[in-house]
Amino acid sequence: MKNLSEKITSLPVTAALTVDLRARALAAEGRNIINFSVGEPDFPTPDFVCTAGCEAIRNGHTRYTNASGSPQLKKKIAEYYKKRYGLDYETGNIAVTAGGKFAVYAAVTALVNPGDEVILPAPYWTSYYHIITLAGAVPVICNPGPENGFKLTADLLREKISPKTKAVILNNPNNPSGVVYSRSELEKFAEVFREADLYVIADEIYDHLVYGGADFACAASLDEDMKKRTLVINGVSKSYAMTGWRIGYILAEERIIKVISALLSHTTGNPNSIAQEAAITALENGDEAASEMCRAYEKRGKKLADALAGFDGLEFAVPEGAFYIMPCLKGRLLEKFTDGAGFALALLEKAGVAVVPCSDYGVERGFRISYSVSDSELEEGISRITNFLSEIYKND
Ligand code: PLP
Repeated sequence: MKNLSEKITSLPVTAALTVDLRARALAAEGRNIINFSVGEPDFPTPDFVCTAGCEAIRNGHTRYTNASGSPQLKKKIAEYYKKRYGLDYETGNIAVTAGGKFAVYAAVTALVNPGDEVILPAPYWTSYYHIITLAGAVPVICNPGPENGFKLTADLLREKISPKTKAVILNNPNNPSGVVYSRSELEKFAEVFREADLYVIADEIYDHLVYGGADFACAASLDEDMKKRTLVINGVSKSYAMTGWRIGYILAEERIIKVISALLSHTTGNPNSIAQEAAITALENGDEAASEMCRAYEKRGKKLADALAGFDGLEFAVPEGAFYIMPCLKGRLLEKFTDGAGFALALLEKAGVAVVPCSDYGVERGFRISYSVSDSELEEGISRITNFLSEIYKND
């Protein structure tokens, strides 16, 4: 038989999958595993949203809509952005996609030509890297590290710009570090974007999960220039605990949305019609539910950060949003485990806790703990991790 596609067969199996497979095997052997590896809310979709989904089926919302989403949902998204960020978008500025991941795929694919460079600040959500390469473009990694609180700076960004740079992907709040860029930080980046005439793919899918003290701003809301060059990515998966419903969206200039709509019409077709109706209800009435979930994540994140702070072999940014923390090994822990993957496998085998190595997120010595778990699982997980670390420190 002839070969399969080189592009697709070169997509790697992730380090996360290796841990996941081992976690499943241990669970099948009867081991109790605390799973901190899942990137989705532990809460169920709010009841009123589920009701809206059931009603959508009964009311006949079971047929094709426009490939780029129903006008009703686009109108609701536009209203939502006006109310939340004071931004004026028309329905022609919006494309609805089958989940946030396809929104990123469509945005990157619409912007780049083969050989174009896309700057990717680490840590980055692993799919960005592969989406960029699938589109024939080149990911250029920028690695801010602990000296910058794991946050991009305007100077670091400038260093990575070449004549081939087309765009930057800015994920705010960040998966896997939980850091949030403030308005003033974004303003410094905006100067660089303008200087080099770059597009900005602003993945703000966790924008509802920003903790009390953080000064989050939608990148497009900085000024008119930023609004023009930014493709905002969002969706209902994380904010409203609707990961399985598969609704994401892109806000951008009309000329960009036009080409994205053509791409959607020849690939996914319309996102699920029933989920689109449920998303209208989530955007209309979901603020309170989202805020409640956010407060729970904030409490859990603080508990976890406080528990890990006592170990000098770990360094991390205290999360200000989403539901992740990314501890990085240093000193004696780095010597012992070499990288985040080594630590993750040992933690799983010895303590029965599954976390995600961050080698696929551009940070070899990091691992991600997702604290979208119940309070009791969190308590148990923290106790297992701290006992595991204390044992190592004791034996050193
Ligand atoms: N962007 C980021 C940063 C994410 O973490 C995720 C999901 O993990 C997505 C986009 C995609 O979300 P969805 O489940 O809607 O495809």
